[in-house]
Amino acid sequence: MTWTDNYQKAFALSYDDGVYQDIRLVEILNRYGLKCTFNLNSGLMNADSVWEAEGVKVERMPPEGLPELYRGHEIASHLTRHQNPVELDDETLHADILRDKAALESLFGSDVRGFAYPFGAADSRVKQVLAGCGISYARGVHSTHAFDLPADLLHISPTCRHKEDTLFALAERFIALTPDCPQIFLLWGHSYEFDMQRGWERFERFCERIAGHDDIFYGTCGQIFI
Ligand SMILES: [Zn+2]
Repeated sequence: MTWTDNYQKAFALSYDDGVYQDIRLVEILNRYGLKCTFNLNSGLMNADSVWEAEGVKVERMPPEGLPELYRGHEIASHLTRHQNPVELDDETLHADILRDKAALESLFGSDVRGFAYPFGAADSRVKQVLAGCGISYARGVHSTHAFDLPADLLHISPTCRHKEDTLFALAERFIALTPDCPQIFLLWGHSYEFDMQRGWERFERFCERIAGHDDIFYGTCGQIFI
């Protein structure tokens, strides 16, 4: 955590599944100088990966163009096919993490050391397998509504999901903080959720509020946690 040499507060985003709405998300983040970790499934980058969520069409993107799209952000593993890691035996899980990591490293030309638990499914056995595959940190899904450093880098709980009502109140609390130890605001979600209920407009308002503060380090999860 070298950012703590110069900052006591860090802000990061972590978005899952590599869907088409990430294009609009990246455009907004780049405009505000915000950094995100994108958790991708290397085995699902094809046209078969389409579903519907609350009336919104969701489709994962093919690999072509992704290195350009995500440039300046971080890529992390989310298993090759979004399997539930708790349901895989040690050997299968180990092989799948290594396969996903290698495929993403070759596509993006950068080290993959982060992971997000598909379905938020985590336990101590899965953590051990992750560590054995060279994964340095892993993100879960349970909101803390707090900014403390994670006690366990292999099961990091985010501050909140962008859909939550408390998003703006948390932003105000974070901006007002003058901490004497490092504090982190980690936001997560799926970009297709912005297609629902004027989510893009609300998210842009949030970015406008959280960005551009001299006392906040804006980095990817890898830059913040490793
Ligand atoms: Zn996912």
